[in-house]
Amino acid sequence: MDFQNAIIEFLGLQDVVIEEINFHHESRKVRLIVRQKREECFCGQCGVQFDSVKEWHKKELRAPPMGVFSDIKLIFYQLRGNCESCNRSEVAEARWIHPEFRSMTCGFSEVAGRLMEEITCEAVSRILHTDSMTMWRVDQWRMEQMEKRLVLPENIDVRFLAADEVHFRTVENENRKGLFAKRFVPEFVTNLVSPRYGKVLANAYGRDSVSLEECLLKLSPDQLLSVEKFAVDMHEPFMAVIRTECPNAEICVDRFHLVQKVNEAFDKVRRIEFKKARDSGDKLVEDMLEPHRRFILMARDADLSRKEKKLLDKLRNANKEIHVAMLLVEYFHRALDKANVLSFRKALRAWYLLVRESKLEPFLKLAKTVRRYRRQIEAYIKSGLTTAVAEGLNNKINTVRKMDYGYSSKQSFLRKILQRCGFLNHQYINTDDLFYCATP
Ligand SMILES: [Zn+2]
Repeated sequence: MDFQNAIIEFLGLQDVVIEEINFHHESRKVRLIVRQKREECFCGQCGVQFDSVKEWHKKELRAPPMGVFSDIKLIFYQLRGNCESCNRSEVAEARWIHPEFRSMTCGFSEVAGRLMEEITCEAVSRILHTDSMTMWRVDQWRMEQMEKRLVLPENIDVRFLAADEVHFRTVENENRKGLFAKRFVPEFVTNLVSPRYGKVLANAYGRDSVSLEECLLKLSPDQLLSVEKFAVDMHEPFMAVIRTECPNAEICVDRFHLVQKVNEAFDKVRRIEFKKARDSGDKLVEDMLEPHRRFILMARDADLSRKEKKLLDKLRNANKEIHVAMLLVEYFHRALDKANVLSFRKALRAWYLLVRESKLEPFLKLAKTVRRYRRQIEAYIKSGLTTAVAEGLNNKINTVRKMDYGYSSKQSFLRKILQRCGFLNHQYINTDDLFYCATP
C-alpha cells in the first residue's frame, strides 16, 4: 500500500485522489485537498455512471484526527455531472460524507460519537476543535440511530430486578390551577435495573405504573416470568405493575430505599428545628443544623472524624428533638442490620415504640409506611441481597444529570442513562459501519 492509500484509509475516505497535503506543525493542523476519482462517479439518484463533468463542486469537510494532528480539514472536489437517465445535473455519490451533518465525514462523526459516550460534548468539542452545540446534535443523532439497533443481550439473567426512580428536574407548573396550586413540579425518570450486571436495562419518563410498564415491555414474556425477586421503593403504583407483569416475583423493599426514606424524615426534623433555633436566636444550634451539615448529621458513627463526633455530641445535648431523631435513625439502621426476620421484627417493634414516644411527626408518618410494607421489607431481609450496585448506579445517574446532558432534554437524559449505565453504547452495539457510511 502506498502513502496516499494509507492516508485515505486512516481518514475513512473512499474513491478519492489526494492532490495536496499541508502540515502545520505549530497548530497541529493538516489541510488536505482531495478529488473524487473520475471513474468512480455515479449519480446519487439513480446510480448510473456519469460520462461528462459539468463542474467540480468544492466542499470543506472535517475529518477524524490522525496521530499527533488533531485538526484535519479536507478540501473536497466533488463531481457534478449531467445524468442522462435522470435528465438533470446531479452530484456524484460520496457515501463517506455524513448525510445529516454535511460539513463532516462519517468517520469524524463516529470518532466524536464514541468519545461522547464517555465524556461531555463540551470536552469533545475542545478535543476536536469544533463547537459544542454541533457535537451535541451529532450525539443526539447517533444515539437515535443506536436505539434502533438496541436489543438486550440474549440469555441475560433477569431473575433479580430493581426499579428505581430518579429525579430529573423541577419545572415551573404551566397549567397552574388557582393561586395556591403548586408553582413548581418535579419530574422523574423510572429506571429498570439489573443489580446483577449493574446496568440499566430500560427507562421511561415518569414514576407511575405506566412508566414501569413501558420499561418492562423491553423484556420478553418468558423473561418476565423468570423474575424471582423485584426490589422497589415503597411505592404502590410500581408494586401493582410488578404483581401483574411478573407474577412469580417476590417484591422486596430494599435497604437503599428505606435509608433514603429515613434520611428524609430526619431532614424534616432538622429543618423544623433549624427554623425554631433561628426564630429564638439560638446561634449554636442554628449553626449546627445548617443545610450543608446535614450529611454529617445523617452519617453513621463509623464514618465520622473525632472532631465531627464531638460537634454532634454538643448538638445532641443542646437539642432534644435532634438527639431523639438521631437515635431513631441509628436504631432503624440496626434493625436493618439484622440477619434474620425474627430479630428484625423484634428490633422493629422496639423502634415503633421509640417513634411513638418521640412524637416526631415525620417519623410517625414513616413508621406508618414501614408498617404497611413490612412484608416486603422482610422479604428483603430474607433475601440477603445487598444494595451496593443500586447505590453506585444511582450515583452515576446523578452525575449524568449534573452534567446536564441534552441541555435539559427529556429524551436525551433517558438515552444518556442507557448509554453510560446500560447497553446503548458501542461496546454492545456494533457501529463500525458508521465510520464509513452513516446512511441507515
Ligand atoms: Zn441519475
